[in-house]
Amino acid sequence: MDEFRERIRNKKRIVVKIGSSSLTHKETGDMDYIRMEKLVRELSNIRNQGKEVILVTSGAIAAGKNAVNLNNIRVDSQAESLAVKQACAAVGQARLMMTYQKLFAEYNQVAAQILMTKNTIVDNLNRYNAHNTFSELLKMGVIPVVNENDTVATYEIEIGDNDTLSAIVAALVEADLLILLSDIDGLYTDDPRTNPDARFIERVEELTEDLMEMGKATTGSSMGTGGMNTKLMAAQIATNSNADMVIANSRDIGVLHRILAGKNEGTLFVAHKNENFDLPLFVKGLHMK
Ligand code: GLU
Repeated sequence: MDEFRERIRNKKRIVVKIGSSSLTHKETGDMDYIRMEKLVRELSNIRNQGKEVILVTSGAIAAGKNAVNLNNIRVDSQAESLAVKQACAAVGQARLMMTYQKLFAEYNQVAAQILMTKNTIVDNLNRYNAHNTFSELLKMGVIPVVNENDTVATYEIEIGDNDTLSAIVAALVEADLLILLSDIDGLYTDDPRTNPDARFIERVEELTEDLMEMGKATTGSSMGTGGMNTKLMAAQIATNSNADMVIANSRDIGVLHRILAGKNEGTLFVAHKNENFDLPLFVKGLHMK
């Protein structure tokens, strides 16, 4: 085991992000309860080891669309589509939490819901309050379950994707590890779906300009909003804030305990605390470039 992986065994405050495509069945868009149940079992087990856990979960819009049978309906005007998306999120977020609450209760854990927008970080008072709420929840042994507040977040105040949101949460709570569970194994030198010569990258010690540029060329999955670009953005936020970050495949949720045991799973981005990194300023600048 190399020294970087060895260090992961001692991580104490862990943020785990899972995306919509990992939580739903491809064929129907319906929730994958087996996947959710395994996720909750893994997270509960991490809590039982005395570590603190925060879950950042997508799936609100997907679950809502499904509940109101809008899976295949085309929405015409942009305003209408936003309102439909927000209405679906309102239905779906409640459903999502209902399922998480039930599953966490089965493992004797208490879960809480936190919904955020860009303003939660940019506004000083909001950020202060959010920070205090997270701290208290963790002190109480509760597992915060976080999503973007999709029912109110429009372009001006949205973070826009949960990869970025999870890194922002990791920075806000001073987590020491962020794990992004995704439908890919980790970072490759190119898109492995289109280039058979793409090589897997096990560890990134420095986020170079070249690497960031490479991410911009890739596209996201059909369900969630994140592609490699948002994952590299997340890596930038996390590593600057002194958290290691791992991207791993959610195909087997058991990858979580293997990562925490120091096993060589996924791509590890090594933390580099940057005293000049200003989280509110960075978040304020999102989408404005
Ligand atoms: N917040 C959105 C949802 O829960 C998803 C955002 C994302 O997948 O990145 O549906």
